[in-house]
Amino acid sequence: MILIVDDNQNNIYSLKKLLESKDFPVDTASSGEEALGKALKNDYALIILDVQMPGMDGFEVAETFTGYSKTKDIPIIFLSAVNTEKQFITRGYDSGGMDYVTKPIDPEILLLKVKTFYNLQENNIALKKSQQSLELEVKGRREAQVSMRSEIDHFHLMLEALPQIAFTLDQNGVVTFVNRKWFDYSTLEQKFPETHPDDLDINEEFERCRKKGKALELEIRIKNLNSGEFRYHLLRMSPVHQNEKVKNWVGTFTDIDDQKKVEKEKDEFLSIASHELKTPLTSIKAYMQLLDRKLKNNLESKEGTFVIKALDQIEKLNSLISDLLDVSKIDNGKLRINKKPEDLEKLIHNTIDTIVQTHENINIKIDRHIAKIDHLIPFDAIRIEQVLINFLTNAIKYSPDNHQIIVTTFVDEEEVKVSVTDFGIGIPDFKQDSVFRKFYRVEESSVQFQGMGIGLYICSEIIKQHHGTIGLSSKLEEGSTFYFTLPLN
Ligand code: ADP
Repeated sequence: MILIVDDNQNNIYSLKKLLESKDFPVDTASSGEEALGKALKNDYALIILDVQMPGMDGFEVAETFTGYSKTKDIPIIFLSAVNTEKQFITRGYDSGGMDYVTKPIDPEILLLKVKTFYNLQENNIALKKSQQSLELEVKGRREAQVSMRSEIDHFHLMLEALPQIAFTLDQNGVVTFVNRKWFDYSTLEQKFPETHPDDLDINEEFERCRKKGKALELEIRIKNLNSGEFRYHLLRMSPVHQNEKVKNWVGTFTDIDDQKKVEKEKDEFLSIASHELKTPLTSIKAYMQLLDRKLKNNLESKEGTFVIKALDQIEKLNSLISDLLDVSKIDNGKLRINKKPEDLEKLIHNTIDTIVQTHENINIKIDRHIAKIDHLIPFDAIRIEQVLINFLTNAIKYSPDNHQIIVTTFVDEEEVKVSVTDFGIGIPDFKQDSVFRKFYRVEESSVQFQGMGIGLYICSEIIKQHHGTIGLSSKLEEGSTFYFTLPLN
């Protein structure tokens, strides 16, 4: 807006008309005092100031404007009829004016000047505004940087306080921070600790996970620099996301060496115990079978039924010991798989028959939903039967009130999937991943149902060795579906 200051209303009127004809917004004041009041209140892009005014003259008004930060940069054009002499013009410029126009006014010249100053001032204002907002942004960023720095320091302090080795990496996998414990196992910040020659390579494993943006969890032996001893650690590296992108990684090495030693001793004990139990049990079984044959002629005798019951219990004991032996084989990497092209459909059929016959006292109903597998698949028939028996006996055991079971097969170009569905007690969501762990039993069911928690562990190892997958879906109190897949080739 332009402010015209003149004590002569006719001058104001004609000037106002002239400027408004060119679409300039105009405000007016008829004295220096009024002009000052308005200029402090409103924003003007230009002031056209008459020099001859009663009270404060134009020069005084202009000098006063220079004293206020709000008004000091507003360009002023002086209008004067009288003071055309050089010294007056000079005073006009000294008092803060930008131009000096003498009356009678040449409207075209005045308009040209007004336009130039008006545009200049508008640009100045815009520049000033953007400078202010830039300054604000810089200030904001500086503050954010300071607060981020203090958050990072706090985070690093917390990592220092951890009993584990802790470290962070950027999104490219470059180490950005390590706590003091790191240096018990590595000489350099950028170098992962040395791992046992038989264990996996941390860099390779991490690179694989980094590409997928997935967390890494690894049991690994790393060398303690003071003792030279390789100690078992659980390495965990997790991505930290920001706006759905991996921003950096945070990792820990937790010392699990003592735990591992106890576990090893337990495994060794189980292995020895199950081996030692197996031999006398085989003899007992043989003697019982002989006795059974002797008594066969007399099926009605009480002794005969006792022997059958004893043989039944011996069979259960036998399978328990076999499971324990399997566990020790897995622990020692000695579980061997003997793959041959086999008829999976026949195996499923025979296994269901065996289950039905061995559970004559329970009224189970096993439905088959079949997808035809019209060629032989390479697998170890004894081991896959073991998996299926485990799924089916679990389905029966953990469904005390409903003995309907559905066995489904599904085939595509790459694999066959076999599922066993029951309508039993189900497994809570957060415990489902753990059921394939060694000796894991779901707390809620472990009191009511007998078991050792190793059947599914063995199943998962068998399927792993077949390069298949194993898993489940389950809903508490509605039932579970356990499945495994086998590659067709
Ligand atoms: P076990 O049955 O001898 O305890 P498993 O390894 O076969 O051992 O199973 C591990 C655990 O998984 C079981 O203790 C049980 O809690 C749970 N589980 C397995 N199958 C089922 C099922 N069909 N329904 C509900 N829970 C199951």
